[in-house]
This record gives sequence, C-alpha cells and structure tokens, in this order.
Amino acid sequence: MSRIVGIDLGTTNSLVAVVESGIPYVIADAEGQRLTPSVVHIPGPGGEPVVGHKASRVRALKPAETVYSVKRFMGRRGADIPREEMLVSYPVQGEASGPVTLGIHGRAWTPEEISAEVLKKLKRDAEATLGEPVTRAVITVPAYFNDAQRNATIRAGEIAGLTVERIVNEPTAAALAYGLDKLQERSRIAVYDLGGGTFDLSILELNQGTFQVLSTNGNTRLGGDDLDRRIVESLAGRILAAGGPDASRDPGLMARIREVAEQAKIRLSTETSTDIQLPFLTPGFSFSHTLTREELESLTREIIERTRAHCLRSLSDAKLEAKDLQQVILVGGQTRMPLVRRLVSEWFGCAEFEESRGDLRLGGEFHKSQGPALNTSQNPDEAVALGAAIQAEILAGGFKNLLLLDVTPLSLGIETFGGLMNVIIPRNSTIPVKAGEMFTTAVDNQPSMLIHVLQGERERASDNWSLGRFTLEFERAPKGVPRVGVQFEIDANGILHALARDVRTGHQKIVQMKSAVDVDDADVQKMVEESVAHAFDDLRARQWIEAKLRAGETLGVTRKAVAEHAAELDPEYRTQIEAAMAEVERVLETEDRRTKTGDPQRLKEANKALDEVTKPLADHMMDKAMEAMLKKKGLI
Ligand code: AMP
Repeated sequence: MSRIVGIDLGTTNSLVAVVESGIPYVIADAEGQRLTPSVVHIPGPGGEPVVGHKASRVRALKPAETVYSVKRFMGRRGADIPREEMLVSYPVQGEASGPVTLGIHGRAWTPEEISAEVLKKLKRDAEATLGEPVTRAVITVPAYFNDAQRNATIRAGEIAGLTVERIVNEPTAAALAYGLDKLQERSRIAVYDLGGGTFDLSILELNQGTFQVLSTNGNTRLGGDDLDRRIVESLAGRILAAGGPDASRDPGLMARIREVAEQAKIRLSTETSTDIQLPFLTPGFSFSHTLTREELESLTREIIERTRAHCLRSLSDAKLEAKDLQQVILVGGQTRMPLVRRLVSEWFGCAEFEESRGDLRLGGEFHKSQGPALNTSQNPDEAVALGAAIQAEILAGGFKNLLLLDVTPLSLGIETFGGLMNVIIPRNSTIPVKAGEMFTTAVDNQPSMLIHVLQGERERASDNWSLGRFTLEFERAPKGVPRVGVQFEIDANGILHALARDVRTGHQKIVQMKSAVDVDDADVQKMVEESVAHAFDDLRARQWIEAKLRAGETLGVTRKAVAEHAAELDPEYRTQIEAAMAEVERVLETEDRRTKTGDPQRLKEANKALDEVTKPLADHMMDKAMEAMLKKKGLI
C-alpha cells in the first residue's frame, strides 16, 4: 500500500506533510518553501495554471485571472454567499440554489477545480521529495464545514488524483500535532486559530483518545490580511503627507506597499522596531519609515480584540469557563505576534506572559495554578499539516505502537536503605503496566515506613527526581519482620498509582502521582546521558553503600557476641576479632564526606576478613545455643 500524506488546504496557505520513521515533517517545494500560497493564476485559454508563490506575485497585476481564498466558495450555493464575498475581480456566477463557479477566460471554473490545482502542486512536490507516486491523502477542513463543504473538499482531492482517506477537523489536527491526545481523559482544550484570512476558536474534549468538537466560533473574514491592510492605510497616508503619490489610486503601488507592510509586521514579531524602505515610488520620490512594535500594536490592537467575542461565545456554547480548560493552543501564522499571545493569555487567564518569551524561538508552556496553560510549543503555521500527517500515519497503521502504546521514558522506583534507588518499573516499559516488590525494616521497632517515589536512572536516590512521599504505619516489630508490599501501576493516561500494604494487617495506602509518562524529552535525554556519564561512579557508590550497610550489621552483631561471650574467648582470638573490626571501622572512616563514597573493594575485603575471623565465634555460639535448647528440653 502506498503511503498517505497529510494536507492542510488553507484559505491563505496550504502545506503537505508526512511521517517518516515516526517523525512528522512538512515537505518543502523545489525552492525550499514549506508554505504554498493557496493562489491559482490561470494564464490564458488552454494555459497551464500557475500555483503558489508565482501566482501570488502576479495577483496584483492580473487580478481577473488570479484566484485566492477559493476555500470560501467551496461547497457553497450562490444564495449562501454574502455580497461582499462576491467582490472579486472575476465574475462569480451561480444560480441561487446551485453551486457557484468562477469565470476566468470565458471558462466557468468550480471552486473544487481551483482547489485541485493547489492540491496537484502539493502532490507533485511530495512526489519529488519522496521519490514515489502519492495517491492517498488526509485533508483538513474547518470544524464548522458542513457536509457539502466537506464533500467538495473530497471532490477536489479526486480531481487532483488523490483518494481522500479521511477529512479531519483543523483544530483536531492541531491538537494531535501538539500531542494533546496524551492528556488525561476528558481534558478540554481551546484551539485559537488566527490565519491570513480567517479566525476560529474551537473547544475540544478528549474522549477515549479522540477529540470531540464541543463548540466552534469564528469569523471567516478576519485575519492577518486585515492587519496588513491597516498598516498599508497608515503608510499610504504618510506617503501622501510627505508629498508622495496617492497610492490608493494605483493598484501596482498598493501591492508594493502591502508586501513591505506584511514583511515589517512579521519582523516585528521578533524585533521591537524595523525600517520600511520604498525607493522610487515615483521617479522623484522615495519613502522610508521606522515602524515600531508599539506603533504596530496601536494600529492593529482593535482588530485582534475582535476575536475576543468569538472566544467568549465558543466557551459559552460549550457551557464552560476558561478555568475548565487544561490548555490553549495557538494555530495560524498570525498567532506569532506577541500582542496576540499576550491578549489571548489575558483573556483565558493563562500564566503571566513574559514578553521576551513571546516569539516562537522561545516557545513553551506557561502554567499558572488556576487557568489553562498557553501552549506555544508548536510551529503555529505547520501544526495543522503535521496533525494531518499524524492522522494519516495512524490510518496507515504505522503509528499504532508509538501513539497508543506509550512507554515509560524513565525508570520508577523507591528509595531504600542507605539512600539507594530501587527500581520497580524499568525505563521503556510499555504502559499500562503494574509491578511490585516486598520490603522490610532495617531498624527494630520501626513504627512506619516512608515510601519515597523516584524517577530516573541514577543509582543514588538523591540524584533522581522525587515524585512524592508518603508513610505507611504498622505495628512495631523487630527489624526485618514487617513485610510491606509496594506496587506501582501506570494507567493508560500515564498516571502513577503507588500502593503500599502491610502484609500482616492488610492496612494499605494508595497515592496518585503526577503523570509518569509526560516528561520533557530534553530532561529525559539529560537524565539518561548523565546516568551513562556517571555509570562508573554510580556503580561504586551503590557497591559502597551496600558494603557499608553490611559492615554496620556485622559490626553490631559481633560487638554484641564478643561482649556476651567474653569470658569464654581465648584472649588471642579476641584480639584477632577486634583487629578485624578495627580494620572495618578504619575503612568506613575513609568515606569521602562530600561524595559519601569510599573504596567498595577495600570495604568488601575487610567485611570478608571479619566474616572469616568470626566463624569460630559463630560456631561457638551455635554450640552454646544448641546446648541450651537440649538442656531446656531435659535431653542432656
Ligand atoms: P496562515 O493562514 O496560518 O498561513 O497565516 C498567515 C498569516 O500569518 C499571514 O497574515 C502572515 O502575515 C502572518 N504571519 C506569518 N508569520 C508571522 C509572524 N512571524 N508574525 C506575525 N504574523 C505572521
């Protein structure tokens, strides 16, 4: 079976993405461009349509032969289209009750046919990169698209020679790209999508691994283009005031200004001021202006604020408040603008937004105890296409193992005697998973046991991450007698349930810990790298601690025995025992205070020597005990 690509067929831009070796990525065209403007230029009767950047460049010069934003016409009847949307440079025809067509060079084009030209280009680019025919696709559509609009999209695919395996809602695809299908069951998220020409706010709920659209609201004529237009108006005014030409009467000049305006807007997402240069607007007039981010924000703030009402509406339709959401994710190129991020986080009550972190290079998650997290970790203009590719890979059966069968990124365990890590669920175990072990006490009459849950790959507890602690009380008993079963269970959502049970009484405690699976990739990598880098030291540390525990135990027992049997011991033998004990103590004193380790080999040897030398004493004690028992039973 051939592979399936994911396509974001957008109003302004379209993208094609695939998953290879588990990694989703957007395919670039021959010029290295990953975004293809959804613009189609029809050069003349019988001429080959020109698509993308090239078509975009001729749009201002040949408006009657160049179609943009055709997505607005997809699957719609003449009667459904408001008059202002008909105001394009080519005739839009169609019976009130019939589908619309666009008249170019005397031929009536259906919106599906124009969209198919965009899809054909994406198909060709994907084939060139992948080196194989591409015939199957997943295509995304806005959540509010009705059946007719979805069917028109499928038809466009067919005209382009693609079998549309599935139509996916854009916000759902974005959520997949953000990896939100791994959130807890019934998590709710808002997808704020501000593109070039449209705005949507969708509220989704995760149900058994799939997203359900709870509500969607937006404006099909609100987007980045409106900001550009506002900047153009301001610049045209300045040009006129400076004695330059009246650009509003000259479509060619307007196109030039629009281009520099958009570029300046984009630069101001990462810079605080930028120079706009328009040389030789007329033979004797050149124009330049320094546009600041502040000026841009005051020019465009009102446009962005228009999206707020849609956010509120969508929330109220879903019968939710912002605090019921776990995350707000951003989609669409215009959401890179720091002001958009700031306002959205304000409206949804997200974490205080740091201006310096507002650009994508420093994207991340912002948490606050109450409101949702503003998640900007994905490239906003690629998220929908990447999500479509992920959905395609799931359909092709390729992602099953990666998506559904998650694994534990790091080992989970508890702290045991001497501060060591005792692994219960090893790293890379497939979840859901359950495992347990039995523990006992190291001290006489211990009233309780502290269960310290750890995550990580290091031998010493203190080098791992602490996930939480709890205590289990039990009846006092000599050391080694209580038996405490500890069981870890990671459920399908990655939540760790740690259970500790006193085997004798059945008394138990279960504590739920934060997600054991959803940890930052970079942190996991760092932990694994550190465990490799410190493997030798860690092993020595573990051996030292184990030998030290053993030394403590033997010294205690021997001291007690020597004291009890002092009278019966040969003085020379007693000196031998004391020398062996002194050697063990000497080695223990060599422990480095800072690293809390010493030479485990030397300590093991000293332990062994003490064991050897105390053998006759142990035998003697055994004989004595036997004698006492036989006497007690009256047998001797
Ligand atoms: P989309 O429809 O998602 O491709 O979004 C396109 C819109 O995003 C256009 O209006 C672009 O000018 C705008 N855009 C793209 N990159 C940026 C950026 N870095 N800062 C601000 N706006 C941007």
